[in-house]
Amino acid sequence: MNWDEILGHQNQQEMFKRSVARNRLSHAYLFVGPDGIGKKKFAQTIAASLFCETIPDSELNSCGECANCKRMKAGSHPDFYLVGRPPDKREIPIEVFAGSKDKRGREGLCFEMSLRPMASTRKIAIIDDASSMNMESANSLLKTLEEPPEFSMMILIANNENSILPTILSRCQKVRFQPLAASDISKIITRLDWVENSEQADQIAAMSDGSLTLAQQLLDPELRNLREVLFGLLINSPFNSVSTTKRIQELLNEIGTETVLLRENSRWVIRFTVEFFQSVSKSIISGNSKSMISQVNQFVTLKERKPEKALSVISDLIDMSGAIEQQILQYSPAALCMEGYFNNLGQKLRLF
Ligand SMILES: [Zn+2]
Repeated sequence: MNWDEILGHQNQQEMFKRSVARNRLSHAYLFVGPDGIGKKKFAQTIAASLFCETIPDSELNSCGECANCKRMKAGSHPDFYLVGRPPDKREIPIEVFAGSKDKRGREGLCFEMSLRPMASTRKIAIIDDASSMNMESANSLLKTLEEPPEFSMMILIANNENSILPTILSRCQKVRFQPLAASDISKIITRLDWVENSEQADQIAAMSDGSLTLAQQLLDPELRNLREVLFGLLINSPFNSVSTTKRIQELLNEIGTETVLLRENSRWVIRFTVEFFQSVSKSIISGNSKSMISQVNQFVTLKERKPEKALSVISDLIDMSGAIEQQILQYSPAALCMEGYFNNLGQKLRLF
């Protein structure tokens, strides 16, 4: 948990250094930004730095050797808490903050945070997936945020601040995080040995939207195959929405039929389609320059297209994609969404 392991987010690091130097750390922060860009790792690094016994707080770093650093590495620091949404749940239940029903208020994170630190001068808690707190759990956390113990610091992590109660937002200092640069993603996945060569690293990084989570998913051979097949279907002329829907559904079912997986992979179909048409539009804008995606080049050269018309159709198509992805996120059946998606897509492509 050293800053050397963190790429990007320089401004945020400087901001924390200044706050520590002026003794102006807040009791509560909200880290906001897309998934997979290192917000949690950043928060853990802050915690490790503040716990380290040998490096002064003002330098905001950790030695990795002292007792507290060792405890952090081992995940056994008694003054550090990392909570989040349980993997099998859609929300963070109140039990995480306030304990089980029969011990309400006598266990859980808020109770723990009220006790004095044992191994250092602070208690630090990271609340991951904070956008999935329900009303009940948010309200139980709010009490601690309203009257934070002097030694406490809480870092809430969220990909979307809109789903966080305004009363909670107003108690936290907001720190915004940006997607990572493609070059940083490329460096990280090379360092992690996820890729075979630098070409593959750059290619994955370019598609990853600055998110390591997306990059990791893109390295899944089944998803890459889905993308290839989809691109092949998108260049059919004329585009056939019925056979495209059928083929894509087959592939999605082959990857996995669990609802969560179908929903997640259907979102990938939409993201890949958007990626494809964004590349088409880039190629048209730059005067038919070659794209890294061969099917995009075929799509652009296959037909005589009117650039202005094409760009406006693509812009509609991307809006429509966002709307269908929202429906999937709001738990509409993924299969129905896919069918509607390719129907809409077929209608739009006829306008080219
Ligand atoms: Zn240390």
